[in-house]
Amino acid sequence: MISSTSTSKIRPEHLERLALIYVRQSTLAQVRDHTASTARQYDLRQRALDLGWPSSRIVVIDEDQGASGASAVDRDGFQRLVVEVGLGRVGAVFSLEVSRLARSCSDWYRLLEICALTHTLVVDEEGVYDPALYNDRLLLGFKGTMSEAELHWLQVRLHGGKLERAQEGKLRFHLPTGLVHDATSQIVLDPDEQVQQAVRLVFEVFDELGSARAVVKHFATHKLLFPTRIYGGERAGELTWVRLRHSRVLSVLHNPLYAGAYVYGRRQSRTETLPDPHLRIRRRLGRVKREEWLVTIQNAHPGYITWEQYQRNQQRLDDNRTHDHKERRGAVREGTALLQGIALCGHCGKRMYTRYKKGSAIPTYYCVGQNRELVCRLCQSIRGDGIDAAVVGALLEAMQPAELAVSLASLEQIEERARQIDQQWQLRIERAQYESDLARRRFYHVDPENRLVARSLEREWNEKLEEVQRLEREYADLPRATARLSSPEERQRILALAQDLPAIWHAPTTTNAERKQLLRFLVKDVTLARKEQAVHIAIRWQTNAVTALEIPHPKKGYAAQRTTAAVVERVRELALTHSDRQIAEILNEEELTTGVGEPFTRLSAYWVRHSNHIPTGCPEVPTACPGGQRGDGRYSTRAVAELLNVSRFAVAKWCKAGRLDAIQEGRLGPYWIRLTPEIIAELRKPAS
Ligand SMILES: [Zn+2]
Repeated sequence: MISSTSTSKIRPEHLERLALIYVRQSTLAQVRDHTASTARQYDLRQRALDLGWPSSRIVVIDEDQGASGASAVDRDGFQRLVVEVGLGRVGAVFSLEVSRLARSCSDWYRLLEICALTHTLVVDEEGVYDPALYNDRLLLGFKGTMSEAELHWLQVRLHGGKLERAQEGKLRFHLPTGLVHDATSQIVLDPDEQVQQAVRLVFEVFDELGSARAVVKHFATHKLLFPTRIYGGERAGELTWVRLRHSRVLSVLHNPLYAGAYVYGRRQSRTETLPDPHLRIRRRLGRVKREEWLVTIQNAHPGYITWEQYQRNQQRLDDNRTHDHKERRGAVREGTALLQGIALCGHCGKRMYTRYKKGSAIPTYYCVGQNRELVCRLCQSIRGDGIDAAVVGALLEAMQPAELAVSLASLEQIEERARQIDQQWQLRIERAQYESDLARRRFYHVDPENRLVARSLEREWNEKLEEVQRLEREYADLPRATARLSSPEERQRILALAQDLPAIWHAPTTTNAERKQLLRFLVKDVTLARKEQAVHIAIRWQTNAVTALEIPHPKKGYAAQRTTAAVVERVRELALTHSDRQIAEILNEEELTTGVGEPFTRLSAYWVRHSNHIPTGCPEVPTACPGGQRGDGRYSTRAVAELLNVSRFAVAKWCKAGRLDAIQEGRLGPYWIRLTPEIIAELRKPAS
């Protein structure tokens, strides 16, 4: 139907130019109704004839073949169209669904602009438009919008219908294993006893042990399998038994259907239009909070647990998660410790904590090991500033643009290799699957009366099935190449960032929190291990590559204040004949000082001896107290009293009486007593 206003737009100068009929093979309409497309194409040709173009000036351009119907051209059809219109040789462009194209395809939008400049008309099945006229341009745009809106409405209507049925509990959806639809579409427990048992077991073990991992472990240690009813395909409804995985346990525990509740709207998804407007995908947006489910009907069907139990389970799972969360990296905090939250212990694998000495910015990384509750002994503790510096060095080096370009390129190779390996596995599994299907069909087709054959075929089928499962297991256990697939743009962005990284890093305006954030972009975690020779640092990058570093042990605080070698030598000499107290006195007389410049005391003299392993005189006699024995091995009165468990007065009496080998310095000075095991034995004898 052509209105007079449409035809009036066609003027003689249009008819003198070409009529280009552009056939776009991939329009939605043609996909929907492919057989009709050729017919519609000829309709357009007929339309051009009707509108007054002589057949000699009608040219058909087929985009797919890139050639026109009249003359062979080696250019892309659309390009040719644009060029012809741009040169002003075209009177009108004929195409199907121009309005939609104009709205959703930028190429077409540009073409319309060129049409407006060259006074070229645009014709589709419904009308004739002059893009130079404001109203027509508006109409083209508006019609395009309408068709978009129509699609939207169509979807809303569909979805709305779904919701209505769901509110009545009548919308059917795929049920989890353990529940099935009966003949009257009611949800009932799976009639297979074994299936029921397996599902019940999950709930019982969780009830008892309180964690999903414990359920997995229970199934694994007892070599139990979990059922899956195949959904869709030619084996729909068939039962397979697989190993129970953690994610599966979680999905069972989270699923309210097992509690007899009919629920709709637990997951959200959104339809997205891709750059090509004809392609749409449904993107999963993840779980919806329990309170926001669209429909919840309790006690709608028989379940495995009660609604109360279900809620209790959710609470427990939530608690478990917050517990786990502590184990995760946690948010960055504003301290100087660069590795806060990402340092792992190289001895036990636990996450390391950070602390700062009072009034100091120097961090210490420490691990409390297994005994978090009984923090009596640390697994290890390392001063952090040297480690932080080494990690920053590695980071900035790794981010050198040249290095980065190479590593990004190698990333591509890794991805490619991972893809190839993956493909091979897929093929292997596919082949095994095919063979198993074949065996199954053979088994089903054999006459049941022919028991012998049936039995051997069944065995064969079982073997094939096992092979499939074995392969799938192996494949699942394979370490995944987790290298992230980064797009070329992303790589460009990383390269650009790399140029600026050192400057950003060192800028005084950059906060510690931002530095940590930068680090975490690139580094997954850092493992620290205090070894005898050095501190070992292993940086695991986000790509899973590992850089290993070693740094010398950080000097402890006291190392800088260590007693000089000369003092140690003097103590070594004196220790042969002098007690620690005497050593201290002599050192002070000689104006020697401790590492921090203070005079010696008995205790500091003892520490010098002890930390330098300076031997004491009389090794066969046990030392009661460190200060009680002097360098030549003689003991003080007090030490002997303690050793023999007598009073000091008694010891002094024995010394005076000559029962002990004692020397006295000065008339009133202390006794220094020599002890041997024989003397001790003699003294311990009851006095006769
Ligand atoms: Zn540890």
